[in-house]
Amino acid sequence: MASKRIAIFGAPGAGKGTQAKRIVGALGIPHISTGDIMREAVRDETPLGMKVKEYMDRGELVPDSMVIEIVKDRLARDDCKGGFLLDGVPRTVYQAEELDRILEDRGQSIEKVVQLCVPEGELIERLVKRGVAEGRSDDTREVIEQRLRVYLKETSPVSDYYKESGRLVEVDGVGDVEAVTERIMAVLS
Ligand code: AMP
Repeated sequence: MASKRIAIFGAPGAGKGTQAKRIVGALGIPHISTGDIMREAVRDETPLGMKVKEYMDRGELVPDSMVIEIVKDRLARDDCKGGFLLDGVPRTVYQAEELDRILEDRGQSIEKVVQLCVPEGELIERLVKRGVAEGRSDDTREVIEQRLRVYLKETSPVSDYYKESGRLVEVDGVGDVEAVTERIMAVLS
């Protein structure tokens, strides 16, 4: 049976969101994207949105405590009982440790973390294109470069955390959207 408590991991522009939508469709589990949740809060001008906007606009990480709160609340909902796919979280080793603790309290764990591997040159190209197509305020060249720096410094160590516990699976993220989905489904089954 396919793993159903999973996370998708990779640099900005690696295709996490696109692949996440396809995988949750196939597995019938909810898609939990901290980026989407926070963008919605910014759009709706909620108290959370007011707090996270500046970090997002600068391409910096939102503080761990806020992210953990969001994820904890989301995972407590009934639709997560049979599994879930986390997208864009955890992004620091601290978030990964906290997430393990939250799930452990419920007798659960992240079974697999799929890392989408894409060379840096292609990431920048994809992000610049997305900025033009979707008008995302953090997809400008300056902010993109900052997000990639943050990824290398703070987020890439998260892959070692999962590698050490035997949960990381690396997937080539270059090529057709469909081909990449097939590679992911193969490692999850
Ligand atoms: P994303 O849509 O996943 O690329 O996230 C967009 C932005 O939201 C990031 O650049 C961060 O500012 C913020 N963000 C999303 N998820 C997290 C997270 N797990 N930890 C910290 N900041 C996050």
